[in-house]
Amino acid sequence: MSGFVYSQKPITIDSGDGVTLTSDDGTEYLDFGASYACTPVGHCHPNVVGAIQEQASELLFVQGSYPVETRSTLTAQLAALAPGDIENVWLCNSGTEANEAALKFARSATDGTKIVAARDAFHGRTAASLSATWKPKYKAPYEPLLEDHVEFVPYGDATALEAAVDDETAAVILEPVQGEGGVNPAPAGYLRAAREVTAETGSALIFDEIQTGLGRTGSFWACENDTLVDSPVVPDILTSAKGIASGLPIGATLCADWVAEGAASHGSTFSGNPLVAAAATATLDVIVDEDLAANAAAVGETLVDELETADLPIDEVRGLGLMCGLEVGRGANRVLRDLALEHEILALPAGRTVVRLLPPLTIDESQAHAVVDALEDELAGTAD
Ligand SMILES: *Cc1c(COP(=O)(O)O)cnc(C)c1O
Repeated sequence: MSGFVYSQKPITIDSGDGVTLTSDDGTEYLDFGASYACTPVGHCHPNVVGAIQEQASELLFVQGSYPVETRSTLTAQLAALAPGDIENVWLCNSGTEANEAALKFARSATDGTKIVAARDAFHGRTAASLSATWKPKYKAPYEPLLEDHVEFVPYGDATALEAAVDDETAAVILEPVQGEGGVNPAPAGYLRAAREVTAETGSALIFDEIQTGLGRTGSFWACENDTLVDSPVVPDILTSAKGIASGLPIGATLCADWVAEGAASHGSTFSGNPLVAAAATATLDVIVDEDLAANAAAVGETLVDELETADLPIDEVRGLGLMCGLEVGRGANRVLRDLALEHEILALPAGRTVVRLLPPLTIDESQAHAVVDALEDELAGTAD
C-alpha cells in the first residue's frame, strides 16, 4: 500500500546514529540527504532520545488548551530564536500546515485576498500551500484550488515582484533559498525588495524557512544570512518545520504582533504535542549550544570549494552552508541510485537534473570530502 504514495527505495533502514544510517543487511550509509533536512543534529542524538524517553513516561498528550511546561518552553525558545520581533508562535504538525496557517493568518490580518508566490516554489501539499506551489504535476489533478487568487512571479526578479504586489495582496510567500526548485539562493537585494514592497501595500511577507532554517545555510535563519541580505530582513511571518524535532512531526508559524492580533480562529488537535515539543527543545538546544550554524557555514564552504575544484562534469554548484545543489545535466535519480548502491552515500534530487545535499549540520570535513570523492568516482568519464 505504501507504493500508493511513495516509490520505495531498494534499501530497508534499520537504525540511525549521527550521520550514519544502517540497513537491514548491516550496510552503513553516509546520510547526506538527512531525509529532507529532518535530522539537523544527526540521527538518534542522545539528548533528543533522552528527552523523548523522559517526556514519554511523564505525559504523552493533553489538549492544547491546558498549559504544559514542555510546550511553553518550546514556544519561548522559538520566540527567542525568531528574527526581529516576530515572537508569536503557532505550532502544528508539518511544513504544509505551517504555511497553511501563514496564508490563513495573512488573509485574516490584511484586507487582501491575493497571494504572490514564485515560480519553482515548493510550499507543501495541502490546498493553500499547494496553490502557492509551482509544479503543475502536483496541482493539476486536484484543481480547482486557489489558482484564481495566486499570482506567480519569476524567482529573483525584484521588478516583477514589485509589479505583482498591490493593495489586494494578502501575502507574498518566498523561500530565501528555493529547495525543491533546484537549490536557488535569492539574488542580492531580492529579499529586501520583497520586504519593502509588502510594507508599502500592507501585505504580509512570509518566508518559508522550512528547509533553510535552523542553521542550515550557515546562519540560524536564511533571512539573516549576510550572503543573501545586507542586514537581516525580518518577515511578518516565518514558517519552520522539517528538522525542528529531529524528524518527529512538527511545524511552527512565527508571526508579528499585527498578524497575530488580526488572525482569526485556527486550531489543530496535536498543536504543541508535549512529546514532540520535548524532542524539539532538545534538538534546538543542540543546534544552539554546539553552534551548528557555524559548522554548516564552515563545512559547507569546504564542500562547495571541493566540488568546484574537483574534476566533475557538472554544470554548476549552487548553495549556501549545508544546502547544496549540483546541476549534473542528466537524470539525478540515476546518479543518486548509483551513489547509494555503489558508494553507500544517500542524497536527494531537486528537480530532474539536480543532486541535492542536505546533510546533518554535524558533519565534519572528512565526511564532506568522502562525498566529493564518491561524486568524482561516480560521475567520472560519464560527461555528456
Ligand atoms: C518540505 C517543505 C515543505 C512542506 O513540508 P511538509 O512537512 O512536507 O508538509 C514546505 N516548504 C518547504 C520549503 C519545504 O522544504
